[in-house]
Amino acid sequence: MSGIKCCVCGWPGLEEDPAPMYDNHDICCCCGTQFGLEVRSVGDIAGVRREWLEEGAPWFYDDDDENDPADDDETTKEPNNWNKSAAEEQIKKAFG
Ligand SMILES: [Zn+2]
Repeated sequence: MSGIKCCVCGWPGLEEDPAPMYDNHDICCCCGTQFGLEVRSVGDIAGVRREWLEEGAPWFYDDDDENDPADDDETTKEPNNWNKSAAEEQIKKAFG
């Protein structure tokens, strides 16, 4: 876990901090936000977060391929019991 939080969902596993330019095209494994696409400035964050929660906060990264060594990273996997309230809890923890 990198500890770098996604500014949309609060997931602490981003490879690079997207702020302040929001153009690194990193994709959050949790909410699927692509910085530089969905989020291009700090003003986009709240709307993208709301839409994601309205969709039920689906985990983005699909980890079905057991044979792909790139999938060995535990942090990209959907946590057990992941759901919308877990997402809301994560957001609360990250942003208060
Ligand atoms: Zn995210």
